[in-house]
Amino acid sequence: MFELEKIVRPNIQSLKAYSSARDEFKGEAEVYLDANENPFGTLNRYPDPQQKSIKEKLSEIKEINTNQIFVGNGSDEVIDLAFRIFCEPGKDKALTFSPTYGMYDVSAGINDVELIKQPLLADFQINLNQLQPYLEMDEVKLIFICSPNNPTGNIINKEDIEYILENFKGVVIIDEAYIDFSTKESLVAEIKNYPNLIVSQTFSKAWGLAGARVGIAYASSKIIDLYSKVKAPYNVSSLNQNAVLVSLNNQTKFEIEKNIILIEREKVITQLSQLPMVKTIYPTEANFVLVEVEKVNELYKDLVKKKIITRNRNSVINNCLRITIGSPEENQKLINALQEL
Ligand SMILES: *Cc1c(COP(=O)(O)O)cnc(C)c1O
Repeated sequence: MFELEKIVRPNIQSLKAYSSARDEFKGEAEVYLDANENPFGTLNRYPDPQQKSIKEKLSEIKEINTNQIFVGNGSDEVIDLAFRIFCEPGKDKALTFSPTYGMYDVSAGINDVELIKQPLLADFQINLNQLQPYLEMDEVKLIFICSPNNPTGNIINKEDIEYILENFKGVVIIDEAYIDFSTKESLVAEIKNYPNLIVSQTFSKAWGLAGARVGIAYASSKIIDLYSKVKAPYNVSSLNQNAVLVSLNNQTKFEIEKNIILIEREKVITQLSQLPMVKTIYPTEANFVLVEVEKVNELYKDLVKKKIITRNRNSVINNCLRITIGSPEENQKLINALQEL
């Protein structure tokens, strides 16, 4: 049985959030003399601390209540706040499945929380038998599941995630940074069934706004209240909120770009499969592809010499390169370079 009060750090449970003037006053006024702002200019006002316009738009699109949405300074903030809300430094633990996104480890380290890393199986799925004892450990407060997983590209089986949600007393964070590129459905709709589920998404990938630093968490309103309490008051700037609103109001652009990337992905995979140095192309549900090649370190350096940067993942998966799907021109340059090598 999941009981949120037992999982939250006591100091966070009893914390009173910073309340700005714009939190206490709601509506439109004529004269704002409450926040010591400069009256002149265009960026002179503090941004909306609750990001109401973004939440209303997302609420429409995702069919989720606005009080079940957190808007953060990138997914990085969603990850970091999870540690700060649920894990007592030097005492509690978190768990993830390797190989996966490196930020869980960095964020755990910053927060002085041990991150247990369980190897994924050969097909990059979760080993539930091996996980079982950890589900029952009181110190393990968080489980991070990246799906589609970075750098492997696969979706994690939904039945396995549901098993974990049902049998773990702590909080499960599903990182869906790449979900827009997948044929499988997001788990966002499951937040109504699982009080211990956080689904994290981002504007950095399919939405094309990595420079704006905006990430989202969907969860029960109780978890979202904790996030809102712990976040910095003005965690998303006006410029960044506006950039997201412009994108959300032009979903056609999003669909067109996403479809180009998906078509390019299949093209790149076909062309890679014809190259002699390519040994394995792993199935992908993301905007990148993990490729096993011969002599990855040399190949990586040869590509750098041709001014093409890929991600050498040899340190986490032997002989593997992670290649992002770029524009048609960029992808062609990559393929040409590989053909020359
Ligand atoms: C790129 C990526 C993110 C995005 O992080 P932001 O801070 O939102 O830019 C999140 N999770 C994973 C697994 C990623 O690969």
